[in-house]
Amino acid sequence: MKSSAQVVVIGGGVVGASVLYHLTELGWTDVVLVERKELTAGSTWHAAGGMHTLNGDPNVAKLQQYTVGLYREIERRSGQNCSIHMSGGLTLAGDRERMDWLRMAQARGRYLGMEMEIISAAEAKQMFPLLEEKYFIGALFDQAEGHVDPTGVTRAYAACARQAGAEIYQHTWVSDLRQRPDGTWDVITEGGEIHAEHVVNAGGLWAREVGRMIGLELPVLAMEHMYLITEDMAEVAEYNAATGKELPMGMDFDGELYIRQEGGGMLLGTYEQACVPWSPRRTPWTFDQQLLTPDLDRIAPSLEIAFKHYPALADAGIKKVVNGPFTFAPDGNPLVGPVPGVRNCWVACAVMAGFSQGGGVGLTLARWMVDGDPGEDIWAMDVARFGSWANLAYTNAKVRENYSRRFRITFPNEELPAGRPLHTTPVYDRLTARNAVWGAGFGLEHPLWFQRPGEEPREDVTFRRSNAFPVVAEECTTVRERVGLTECSNFAKYRVTGAGSAEWLQRLFTNRLPRPGRINLTAALDPGGHIVGEFSVARVGPDDFFLFGSQIAEAHHSRWFLGHLADGVRFDVLALSLVGLSLAGPRARDVLQSVTEVSLASEDYPFMTFRRIDIGMIPAYVGRMTYTGDLGYEIWVAPEYQRALFDLLWQAGQPCGIGLFGFRALMSLRMEKMFGTWAREYRPIYTPVQARMHRSLKLDHDFVGRAAVEAELARGPARTLGYFEITPDPAEPADVVGDEPVWHGGTVVGWVTSGAYAHYSRRSLAFGYVPSELAVPGAMFEVEIIGQRRPAILLPEPVLDPAGHRMRA
Ligand SMILES: Cc1cc2nc3c(=O)[nH]c(=O)nc-3n(C[C@H](O)[C@H](O)[C@H](O)COP(=O)(O)OP(=O)(O)OC[C@H]3O[C@@H](n4cnc5c(N)ncnc54)[C@H](O)[C@@H]3O)c2cc1C
Repeated sequence: MKSSAQVVVIGGGVVGASVLYHLTELGWTDVVLVERKELTAGSTWHAAGGMHTLNGDPNVAKLQQYTVGLYREIERRSGQNCSIHMSGGLTLAGDRERMDWLRMAQARGRYLGMEMEIISAAEAKQMFPLLEEKYFIGALFDQAEGHVDPTGVTRAYAACARQAGAEIYQHTWVSDLRQRPDGTWDVITEGGEIHAEHVVNAGGLWAREVGRMIGLELPVLAMEHMYLITEDMAEVAEYNAATGKELPMGMDFDGELYIRQEGGGMLLGTYEQACVPWSPRRTPWTFDQQLLTPDLDRIAPSLEIAFKHYPALADAGIKKVVNGPFTFAPDGNPLVGPVPGVRNCWVACAVMAGFSQGGGVGLTLARWMVDGDPGEDIWAMDVARFGSWANLAYTNAKVRENYSRRFRITFPNEELPAGRPLHTTPVYDRLTARNAVWGAGFGLEHPLWFQRPGEEPREDVTFRRSNAFPVVAEECTTVRERVGLTECSNFAKYRVTGAGSAEWLQRLFTNRLPRPGRINLTAALDPGGHIVGEFSVARVGPDDFFLFGSQIAEAHHSRWFLGHLADGVRFDVLALSLVGLSLAGPRARDVLQSVTEVSLASEDYPFMTFRRIDIGMIPAYVGRMTYTGDLGYEIWVAPEYQRALFDLLWQAGQPCGIGLFGFRALMSLRMEKMFGTWAREYRPIYTPVQARMHRSLKLDHDFVGRAAVEAELARGPARTLGYFEITPDPAEPADVVGDEPVWHGGTVVGWVTSGAYAHYSRRSLAFGYVPSELAVPGAMFEVEIIGQRRPAILLPEPVLDPAGHRMRA
């Protein structure tokens, strides 16, 4: 065994093997994989090996597409048979909502070049004669689906990595990890110690335990999962003989099951409602290539549906039942990337679909390690999308919810209930008493909208316009015509202090720093010029700053800031030690002025001012800006003052007709002002030139990514963020939700990033990226919304107040 290596990958399941392979592909060959038993000994060996590209998140779908396409290559290079069966697959829908979801998934796949076809139930029956047509109304057919041999694939990755110089030590348990002061690691194994620059936790079923070796509680939990294999069936043999083909795979939403041919019989797996976590607190190290006791009663409801939907199964004998554990993160997506706050420590775990995702996970992690950048948009898989609040109990609640909803639709306006409410701010009860409908982001509850008095505070879930629509319209009117009050605690807030802070931030930010007492907007880039973050920067002293950013990116952004920290600079995540309320609308100044001695006249407190002032008896930081694009203020206080602040503003606002508004109204208001948002318009795959962040981009100083920006400006961006007005279907109006394809001249040329109905302007609006040569004001496009291509015109400027008079009033 080597005593040192550049990288030690812990875990020889399909994921660890893929990471090892991809590291060698990128040229890091002083790499080793350490496996406590034999390769595949965790959840890999008993997987059903199914693979597909379909995923609700197009970026994850793209990585799945990469994974599926990789198998022939590793099979060829390694000589290891992967038993690749590209049978194609059907996702079957039994009702209109599911058909809508399939249409949307098909549309999202278009700009990724995924060829998927919507077919009728009769066509599905022809392809898959075992199904009972009357239970379905249609299906999505995807040729890029099939199944592989899990062991073959893992060995093929391993063999390719070995060919390139990697070493693999089996029967070698990693019992501890110790970090040296220089950030390198001593990996303590049964076979001796390995000194490594980097460690990768690909521990699968034991990823949590490997995390605990360094005091980490990763949000990952194993669930029991069952599939059964039937005896050979005459119906299968007939199909094979008649067509010369294997039956396609089937995914059946109603039955919460998947089905495929296995040998001469069928394999049927379920995601049952009565799901059961496995080893919820600690995975035993003694578990080795074991299966769990099957419990057919638990999956009986799914089997009942299966026997109705595929009657031939009812008469088939069951040859084998497999019950095995595999892991999930709270949202079902993998956990990938550098662990926040721990140098040279990487994870690739919670991969619940290793044969669809393992290749993409390995590729992006290896790129991240070798190039410092994952190279793809992997926001949905970044380990930093969860904070430390995602503990054992939270993970347990969310994973069970996620497992039981595996084949359920999550609607774009749906808020899932498990693990909530968790974080609440002091005004939570006051807003609940005013009929708030709550959503949650990064563990924190935030008001979405306020139901009318006497009506149930609940939103119907839908792809179209919900019962919130008319109420949100009223909230928008309140803001635009009088004054609205909302909670704005759901920003990430950071404080940067200490000698050298200004110099440090200036080097990271694309905009010049504001003067003390002022705020501005800025972006932060990676060396390649991609957007790492987008922030409001408020300066309260020469070396004293507040930064406000997207809350869901709090761990992601703080990992980045801390990774770049300069000597003498202090970076603090303020989290809920600072909470906020925001006033917006033409009467906002009247309300706030009535409760403060400080003059808020525009000449004394102009747009983009940020100062520490008293509101009544409450010490506050007040920024004169809001995301509504109207006259407004964001008021930041310590939590113990928030209730008093709310009561004071509410009281003071009565003569001005104050009303509450929530996040849905805010999204509508920002759309008519053409304000982009993090994780939608601004993501690490875009650049500030493409995103048209020109006002935040000042080339008069040096900053990370500047050379790349200049080069892009010189050659012109390949794509540009467009702002569209869409004509919805008058019969069944629906607005974009994000990721819809944008058509031009009969082909897909781009995609939507986000959008909303702008209630006050009465227009359906969207943002989306299109080739720059097409991004001409007035150009006509089509945006595909739930299977319908709707006309979309590219607008030159915000539909409301393009000169920005309202916010500067
Ligand atoms: C019944 C069933 C059916 C499934 N069907 C499918 C399917 O059809 N398609 C699909 O894509 N996925 C399927 N899966 C899921 C699939 O099995 C997982 O996504 C995949 O195996 C995850 O691989 P992994 O490498 O992350 O974890 P694992 O396979 O658990 O590998 C982790 C490895 O790390 C090793 N290890 C852990 N800690 C240490 C340590 N301290 N020292 C040394 N070694 C260590 C373990 O021994 C283990 O070998 C199924 C799962 C089950 C249970």
